[in-house]
Amino acid sequence: MKQNVFVYNTLTRTKEEFIPLDAPYIGMYVCGPTVYSDAHLGNARTYISFDLIFRYLTHLGYKVRYVRNITDAGHLEGDSDEGEDKISKKAKLSQLEPMEIVQMYATGFHEVMRQFNVLPPSIEPTATGHIIEQIELVKIMLDRGFAYEVDGSVYFDVEKYNSTQDYGVLSGRHLEDLLNNTRSLGGQDEKRGKLDFALWIKAKPEHLMKWPSPWSLGFPGWHLECSAMSHKYLGEQFDIHGGGLDLIPTHHTNEVAQNMACYGKNPAKYWVHTNMLTVNGQKMSKSLGNSFLPHELFSGDNNILNKGYSPMTVRFFMLQAHYRSTLDFSNDAMEASEKGFKRLMNAYTLLDGLKSSAETEIEIQPLLTRCYEALNDDFNSPVLIAELFEASRIINSVHDSKMKINEANLVELKNLMNTFVNGILGLQNEQAGTDELPQLMEFIVDLRSQAKSNRDYATSDRIRDGLQQIGFQLKDSKEGTTWSKI
Ligand code: AMP
Ligand code: ZN
Repeated sequence: MKQNVFVYNTLTRTKEEFIPLDAPYIGMYVCGPTVYSDAHLGNARTYISFDLIFRYLTHLGYKVRYVRNITDAGHLEGDSDEGEDKISKKAKLSQLEPMEIVQMYATGFHEVMRQFNVLPPSIEPTATGHIIEQIELVKIMLDRGFAYEVDGSVYFDVEKYNSTQDYGVLSGRHLEDLLNNTRSLGGQDEKRGKLDFALWIKAKPEHLMKWPSPWSLGFPGWHLECSAMSHKYLGEQFDIHGGGLDLIPTHHTNEVAQNMACYGKNPAKYWVHTNMLTVNGQKMSKSLGNSFLPHELFSGDNNILNKGYSPMTVRFFMLQAHYRSTLDFSNDAMEASEKGFKRLMNAYTLLDGLKSSAETEIEIQPLLTRCYEALNDDFNSPVLIAELFEASRIINSVHDSKMKINEANLVELKNLMNTFVNGILGLQNEQAGTDELPQLMEFIVDLRSQAKSNRDYATSDRIRDGLQQIGFQLKDSKEGTTWSKI
């Protein structure tokens, strides 16, 4: 079934129909983590959001090449051209090799992604693995007059570029405005213009990670790696470029400028940006000191948390907000999500044991259409989840013999839940052994009926009360006995 997907494009500031450049192929590039510290929950939100997009487009039959890089060099403190490389600094502090730092945090990042059931990208390239490609881009920009060299460092000439292209096309903030609102930082006197940014930086003697180049022994500027790697694996123009919206004003703006300067094309047709996870209304960030780590949330081991929550509860919490809305973290919100997630999973568990009838009082097709409509509308996961709660109500009613469903609709209902809950939202049932629960309960209910028909009421009551104690309720009616979780 063909679906018309609409996506909000930061470039045009409108929701646009998503038309791939070369269907059925889709190229998607998402800026990956800088591996100098543990990925916090805010970072995880961004990658869970793109995981949903990746899963949905794949479900629709597209062949998605998803590139998500690892930044292992060139990202300086303060996200500018000043200060130390974040990874080198950490290496010095820990008395380790920079590559030990990279290995340690990349491994940790992958573990967090696995816990959240985020699928691995198709390619996960590193900045240090693409130094040659980055040097090639600098050469092109120098040749085309968009860059200049000063004492072994190379800078991008923003004002020169802006005379041919709009530098602020992505952020909506135009050059004059930016020039008026940017103060010159000390130590930037090499630059001709205060918005110019580094493409290649000559390394100071104490700098740890450096490579030979035509200009100096040095290292690439942070923004360059994404231009080089997206071009290498996805070409001059691809479908989706993503990241958190904090990357728009500098990192992505500069990436667009580099690609335009090299190839005359904006690298992506659709720029997709996720909003921030906040804590008490403030962006969760390591530098603000309000960040906490996924494993702290799982264990509850952080003084702002009342208790721990499972990885799937956290994933569900994230998906209950649209990716373009802010999401504020609180204990109350987590508790509400925990309840909601359990409700959804209880229904999911009942699905296998549902029995069909000859007639049906419910048609699943309209619900299925609404699930697709939700995702087609800019991947609206909260609306999808509301529809899945509707599906859960149907499951519970059929289970309690309050609603009849025929075989064809039951099959559709099962497919719908498997596809959307498991395949697209990536939610997994965490309760061990729950797959066999319906059969197990049916077995126990049978034993009790047998006891009753043998007039062994002591045993039948014992079974009912015992189940009640561990959280299952049995209901007897003319049609037989049904069970539910309390
Ligand atoms: P970094 O490792 O700092 O380069 O960030 C990795 C990704 O996480 C980027 O796409 C950021 O935009 C994103 N990010 C950082 N903080 C948050 C947050 N509080 N909420 C959502 N995404 C975030
Ligand atoms: Zn990037």
